[in-house]
Amino acid sequence: MIYSEKVMEHFKNPRNVGEIKDANGVGEVGNPQCGDIMKIYLKVEDNIIKDVKFKTFGCGSAIASSSMATELIKGKSIEEAWDLTNKAVAEALDGLPPVKMHCSVLAEEAIHKAINDYRQRAGLEVLEIKTHSDHVHKEVHGE
Ligand SMILES: [Zn+2]
Repeated sequence: MIYSEKVMEHFKNPRNVGEIKDANGVGEVGNPQCGDIMKIYLKVEDNIIKDVKFKTFGCGSAIASSSMATELIKGKSIEEAWDLTNKAVAEALDGLPPVKMHCSVLAEEAIHKAINDYRQRAGLEVLEIKTHSDHVHKEVHGE
């Protein structure tokens, strides 16, 4: 399996690792294929993601995806962060091997859960999280 230099770099030196003690949005997701578990912590102020940290127990692609995804949403509004797709994360990493795309999906879903957690606490409408299972299946099997 060939990984891009960016994936290797984020895997060896991941950004934003840890947890935020006074986080006001937390999301955790798991992935049965690799056994990856990802937890995202958000500190939102005035609708802006002031800080974001993650803890990921998982494969190299999951760690690299979490690292890149947190870099991409830091400083963004919660609406902009919501629109971050796993494809954008994979592209920012100069691509992921097709069988590892589901690891970037995990980052997108963890961010969505964390934003919804924030929205719930803030009394805002909780948004619908679309699942990627069909999409992942297609990518894994190259259809
Ligand atoms: Zn994985």
